[in-house]
Amino acid sequence: MSDHEKMSAKTHKEEVQHNLLLSIRAARNRLFVCFWTFPVYVYAVTQLLNSGSSSTVIMYSYMLLYAFFGISASVKRCPECHEQFFVKRFFLNPFRSQCAHCGLSFKHL
Ligand SMILES: [Zn+2]
Repeated sequence: MSDHEKMSAKTHKEEVQHNLLLSIRAARNRLFVCFWTFPVYVYAVTQLLNSGSSSTVIMYSYMLLYAFFGISASVKRCPECHEQFFVKRFFLNPFRSQCAHCGLSFKHL
């Protein structure tokens, strides 16, 4: 393999890693949107309860949304060590911006 080929192979690997890190960050951002909208959700449910309407639908949709984003973030794999990026043992920690296992970070993206 020539030097040029070695270099383009490395660049390709970095590009793949970059894209994976972007998708990991996007999954985390979606989960954060859920956290941020929690007060809005509480307000909406309170309003519904006060007006005598059923809040069951909105409660279930919110829980499903949470579960969906939680799962989609927890299944993200680190491009470097292929472990679950946000999960160490059983706990999902979306606040980290580094891999729970090898410390690969997406802060620089
Ligand atoms: Zn890792």
